[in-house]
Amino acid sequence: MSVMDSRARSVTDVWSMDRAEPIRTGDDYVASLRGRGLRVRYMGEWISEPVDHPVVRPSVNAVARTYDLAVEKPELATVHSELVGRRVNRFLHVATSAEDLVDQNKMQRELGRQTGTCFQRCVGMDAFNALWSVTYECDRDRGTTYHQRLRDFLRYVQEKNLVVGGAMTDPKGDRSKAPADQHDPDLYVRVVQRREDGVVLRGAKAHQTGCLNSHWLVVMPTMRMRPEDRDYAIVAAIPVDHPGITYLYGRQASDSRAAEGVDQGNATYGGQEAMVLLDDVFVPWESVFLDGEVEWTAPLVERFTGFHRRSYVCKTGLGDVLVGAAAQLAEYHGTDRASHVKDKIVEMTHLNETIYGAGIAASHEARPTAAGNYQPDDVLANVCKHNVTRFPYEIARLAQDIAGGLVATMPSEQELDDEEVGPLLRKYLATSPDVDPADRMRLLRLVENLTMGRNAVGYLTESLHGAGSPQAQRVQIARGTDAEALKAHARRLAGVDEPAGD
Ligand SMILES: Cc1cc2nc3c(=O)[nH]c(=O)nc-3n(C[C@H](O)[C@H](O)[C@H](O)COP(=O)(O)OP(=O)(O)OC[C@H]3O[C@@H](n4cnc5c(N)ncnc54)[C@H](O)[C@@H]3O)c2cc1C
Ligand code: SF4
Repeated sequence: MSVMDSRARSVTDVWSMDRAEPIRTGDDYVASLRGRGLRVRYMGEWISEPVDHPVVRPSVNAVARTYDLAVEKPELATVHSELVGRRVNRFLHVATSAEDLVDQNKMQRELGRQTGTCFQRCVGMDAFNALWSVTYECDRDRGTTYHQRLRDFLRYVQEKNLVVGGAMTDPKGDRSKAPADQHDPDLYVRVVQRREDGVVLRGAKAHQTGCLNSHWLVVMPTMRMRPEDRDYAIVAAIPVDHPGITYLYGRQASDSRAAEGVDQGNATYGGQEAMVLLDDVFVPWESVFLDGEVEWTAPLVERFTGFHRRSYVCKTGLGDVLVGAAAQLAEYHGTDRASHVKDKIVEMTHLNETIYGAGIAASHEARPTAAGNYQPDDVLANVCKHNVTRFPYEIARLAQDIAGGLVATMPSEQELDDEEVGPLLRKYLATSPDVDPADRMRLLRLVENLTMGRNAVGYLTESLHGAGSPQAQRVQIARGTDAEALKAHARRLAGVDEPAGD
């Protein structure tokens, strides 16, 4: 793809050509994704229309739910925006109070509950929120004009009600080496050319949630940069249908069951990740929000993770589904009154609410930035995400414990239709005359789906690595721990230090 070809898709062109009506409903949203000519590969083949691909569609449905929720519950999923002077989808809003942030968390839990998967819109939301203060302070210190550009871009996506994906994670090559020291300079996204009208980007972003289902991608640096990494300190918005982008769709456990149409557990909703290849993509200056200001990369990553790590309360919505599935199966199996089963349900709930508690506490304890938006408490946000790296695994273990071994050994639902073995399968999967064995099978498949099937990507591995692997949170928690102040409290109580004036 040549740079000249790419220019036809500049942001200015896209904005000025964009006569589309704002998206309102989930159906409008699905229609907006059609006919974009994306370059997408899955299982060694090009996909012509991702929206209609059976493996992709559940992830589209999950994002569509974020639109329908805004119509059904506007108080939960929309909020007034001063940028456009009316209510907008909460996923496109820059939070201007701690209450706004708590409401984001409430919406995320509800969507997790409704979809049982990753609904994909939070990375972009958290990116705007972090960039709002970073661009403001960078302009103040460096005389740049990034904040106004960001405001213009946000106004545009709010007016059109678009989906924006956040693309932070680079392939990273040798983890012990910085971007500019890698054996291949493209292992982190970088500026390969600066021109009068913009920049040309090359590289890749890995594990990109909901990228095909977005209208725009905001690429950001993934770590603190040094002066020699200047070309890697780039933040820019790129239209998803830019011809210089290729998407390599990620495989998920049991994803082919969506094509088979059976044994899915959750046939409607799924997550989506892909590797995004940027082949000399031109970006005009009006959608560049940082270029070379390396000193702002660490604050950007830290502020972004401050938002994103408490966004992981989304997983408590999935936890709700799993607790419900385990409790329902216990009832079907006649074990619901056993004390150890009751206790396991209590333990699952305890773990789930512990995640939620830390997440909304981080939002509740948010403080205003110089730019006027609100930044969550960093330690509490990291504690929330750190709990997420562990507790869903235990909740999943307990759900499998209650469900029994059939969760892994059950014959296909297709057997139910067979004249000979169908009645026998019903006979041997019956637990009581009141329970339809087919319902029991559906619940067992849901537990399989969340704990080792398709949506285990969202419930387990994404919980572990998404928004940063566990060690990244421990580093932030260590940074936020004022050990000297804590030692002073201990010394005072133990009588080592004199009480200070009391
Ligand atoms: C389902 C899913 C969805 C995701 N969605 C998005 C998304 O939408 N946008 C996005 O930008 N990213 C996304 N991510 C990426 C996520 O942020 C990364 O997976 C995470 O930061 C870890 O990076 P990695 O996968 O390259 O693993 P690695 O960085 O290779 O980490 C693997 C292990 O190596 C350790 N390690 C890494 N580097 C070092 C080092 N220098 N020294 C010592 N130890 C080290 C880590 O602590 C960890 O234990 C997603 C990930 C997943 C799994
Ligand atoms: S993992 Fe959770 S926070 Fe991240 S995009 Fe998915 S639903 Fe949102």
